[in-house]
Amino acid sequence: QQQQGFPAVATAAAKPPHFVLVPLVAQGHIIPLVDLALLLAGRGARASVVTTPLNVTRMRGVADHAARAGLPLEFVELPFPPAGSVLPADCQSVDMLPDLDHFMPFFAALRELAGPFEAYVRALAPRPSCIISDWCNPWTADVATRLGIPRLFFHGPSCFFSLCDLNADLHGLHERIGGEEDEQERFVVPGMPVRVEVTRTTPLGFFTEPMCERLREEAVAAMRTADGVVVNTFMDLEAQFVACYEAVLGKPVWAVGPLSLASRDDAEAAASRGNKAAAAVNAKAVTAWLNEQAPESVVYVSFGSITRKLPKQLFEVGHGLEDSGRPFLWVVKHSEATAPGVQEWLQALEERTAGRGLVVRGWAPQIVVLSHRAVGGFVTHCGWNSLLEAVVHGVPVATWPHFADQFLNERLAVEILGVGVPLGATTPVYLLDDEAVQVVRGDVVRAVAALMGGGEEADARRRKAKEYAEKAHRAVEKGGSSYEDLTRMVQSFRQSGVKGH
Ligand code: UDP
Repeated sequence: QQQQGFPAVATAAAKPPHFVLVPLVAQGHIIPLVDLALLLAGRGARASVVTTPLNVTRMRGVADHAARAGLPLEFVELPFPPAGSVLPADCQSVDMLPDLDHFMPFFAALRELAGPFEAYVRALAPRPSCIISDWCNPWTADVATRLGIPRLFFHGPSCFFSLCDLNADLHGLHERIGGEEDEQERFVVPGMPVRVEVTRTTPLGFFTEPMCERLREEAVAAMRTADGVVVNTFMDLEAQFVACYEAVLGKPVWAVGPLSLASRDDAEAAASRGNKAAAAVNAKAVTAWLNEQAPESVVYVSFGSITRKLPKQLFEVGHGLEDSGRPFLWVVKHSEATAPGVQEWLQALEERTAGRGLVVRGWAPQIVVLSHRAVGGFVTHCGWNSLLEAVVHGVPVATWPHFADQFLNERLAVEILGVGVPLGATTPVYLLDDEAVQVVRGDVVRAVAALMGGGEEADARRRKAKEYAEKAHRAVEKGGSSYEDLTRMVQSFRQSGVKGH
């Protein structure tokens, strides 16, 4: 493997801890964990991110940022996919899966990284202080155990969701809720500090689909043997869920978010976040267009990095935005835009909405968009990163969850935080190319009107979003809850791997 970047900074006197971070190779997982690496490096720790070559290229923006700031952040490349895999040669991230049939082979191929990962860690002298690996990377657990290295797992969703999942597991709710009976029967999630009702269609955990059974077992086992967990949230947003999660898990929970604020002082890093080449191309055009729009007038529409809509669903979104009468900035993925007939259709839409609508093809510089004063609302799939980024920038949301944690993240945004209005999606769709048209143009029109219009409820959402934004920024400043939790976390590994708060 090839190492890039920086020399080790450890000296015998200072003994800064060395964190080895192993993100899941999906943008919604790698982006926050690389942000965490940047924060750790900013506190004087050495941070090594282990990933695959294509992801190193995508994350170049953060590497450049670290280099500009002189921070000890390095990327370590492990070749992928392994020889003999059925995956296409460049399939190195969940968003690159050609279809759902490749989902399990992708995770099987990831398991094979355990050998090269162990070889990399064994070669390090001294051994790292701590491995931080994604909940979805259970193959790292045995390596840490064999080498006697403390391990934290990073769990990407809201603590609200993670707590629901954990409680559902502990109280046998996953079993009770499984089965084919009445889809609308309601179940209360036990052990929650607030009442949470779910139905059989509400996804309650990661990897709960029947085909993922082994993966879930491995991930749950790795969670149990870990020494603690790092979560991307902050106390003023989720204090009651963080406290409860820590109590139920019986391990330290380090709440160090919002991680997207890690590069808030570096405009170049923000513009290239997640996919340097693609984002930087779009950043200039997007900013120029937003500069022409009135404050808080634009609705931003994006569904994260993975979910892929078929043309018939895509067209409903486009028609809805057109009919809403509001300025909009809509992100359409390359894989969606290149489906038959879509290019022409988008061009025609752009002509009809010229000046009022902008369609970004591919990857948008989301932080640049959300932090722009012209943006007044966000139609989101409720991926936790997107939702938290909206919170950070004080932007209220219209919620359209698709799968996994997104339904419970929606619940948190709408019912608990009061920053969201639902579009009305109630059942999950497949990651890619779902045949169902879940949302029609009228739903989009209604939700955009509620989100962007006047009235008491809309004003309350705006006010709350701005309040949380202030609190989010305070959390990461010196003395703030996340800043101090990160200090304690680094400190605990500085003292030769002692764990606990
Ligand atoms: N993102 C981006 N540009 C895009 C799409 C996504 O910068 O065009 C970023 C977004 O800011 C977030 C991440 O990718 O940090 C997506 O994570 P999220 O949890 O929202 O959704 P997922 O992709 O995991 O479904």
